[in-house]
Amino acid sequence: SKITKDAILEKAKELNVKFVKLQFTDVFGTTKNVAIPVEQLEKALDGDIMFDGSSIEGFVRIEESDMYLKPDLTTFSLIPWKSEYGNVARLICDVYDSNGKPFAGCPRCNLKRVIKEAEEMGFTMNAGPEAEFYLFERDENGFPTLNSKDKGGYFDLSPIDLGDEVRRAMVTSLQGMGFEIEASHHEVGEGQHEIDFKYADAVTTADNILTFKFVVRKIAMQYGLHATFMPKPIFAKAGSGMHVHQSLFKKNKNAFYDANAKYQLSKTALYYIGGLLSHARGYAAVTNPLVNSYKRLVPGYEAPVYIAWSEKNRSPLVRIPARRGVGTRAELRCPDPSCNPYLALAVTLKAGIDGIRKKTDPGEPVNLNIYHLTEQQKSDMGIKSLPANLSEALDELEADEIIKSALGPHIYENYMVAKRIEWDEYRSQVHKWEIENYLSIY
Ligand code: GLN
Ligand code: MG
Ligand code: MG
Ligand code: MG
Repeated sequence: SKITKDAILEKAKELNVKFVKLQFTDVFGTTKNVAIPVEQLEKALDGDIMFDGSSIEGFVRIEESDMYLKPDLTTFSLIPWKSEYGNVARLICDVYDSNGKPFAGCPRCNLKRVIKEAEEMGFTMNAGPEAEFYLFERDENGFPTLNSKDKGGYFDLSPIDLGDEVRRAMVTSLQGMGFEIEASHHEVGEGQHEIDFKYADAVTTADNILTFKFVVRKIAMQYGLHATFMPKPIFAKAGSGMHVHQSLFKKNKNAFYDANAKYQLSKTALYYIGGLLSHARGYAAVTNPLVNSYKRLVPGYEAPVYIAWSEKNRSPLVRIPARRGVGTRAELRCPDPSCNPYLALAVTLKAGIDGIRKKTDPGEPVNLNIYHLTEQQKSDMGIKSLPANLSEALDELEADEIIKSALGPHIYENYMVAKRIEWDEYRSQVHKWEIENYLSIY
């Protein structure tokens, strides 16, 4: 906003910064970076750092690969661990094409495009994630294992909770990068943890999710551990979700809150929820992007399977936390932390505003445990399921024009091609389960 180029140059000098990482993400949400010595910072701040985009996944063909990085000055931050070669800072960038336009394959620019659509309707989005992850030991060669000495469970205290100190180190580093941490705790799984930080506007939250994952992984490594955001690392154990709390504001007021309405939820809130529900099958391929994501979305682990909403129960896709007033919000429970947060926020915001436009009725809240309903009861209540696997999710994305438009043709096409290949590779594998169940019998 008000930060100037000169202020950044000044700050870099004051903090004795020697290198600056210019970060951006590819279509799959992997953070990429170009490191520049501080002498190049002025040029970088002018948006004059060029790179070859042809090797970045989902970006461009070789013949049109000159890309420019346009740093967002508000994202300037010192990386809070020491290097013997001096301090390192980072800037998160938008990617521009050689014609000086936001690049159609840049997920951050694309999110801004969808946000603008909501702004034209008078709304700004706030989002707050709850990212879960596992901490596993590394083997003698440093490779990650699935082992953890930690035997803790939900909200357990040290010394049962071995993650206690590592988590404190993570929280301290995140605070050093400007995060307001709300809570951190042991999660249900052995070796599973959660750290919650304050909500913000959608772009800031997506940026924060990238920074969060970067810091968590790095600190885990310093403790000889591996932090994984894989959605379901171990069969029959809790998966790792990234619930995303979302609300719309209009003229600095929470547009989801209506003190006089049923549930104290405004029409805007109900229609937004309606949109989240009606497009859930379409955006699942984005919020739950991996073959493995769908192994988390099964009954019994507090992960959603059914498309319904509730202000009480935690089994449906959308839960409305008890908080009212400015804190009124919808908690979308399907996303997992392997998603590209820029794309996940773009598609869910688009789903919500489409619900508002079409006045989509979310139906009655389902305040029972849906896992306990019979197939007949579910079908009588019109409760559908999320896609059962990545292939089904991709078919649903292909059929949902609204969600496709939230990605734009460039991202959509590149995403689809890569994800179809991912599924095809997976489906032809012979799984350990098949050997165990078939080899001796057939
Ligand atoms: N791990 C659960 C999930 O996969 C969430 C558990 C919780 O936060 N209560 O979504
Ligand atoms: Mg939580
Ligand atoms: Mg949790
Ligand atoms: Mg939650």
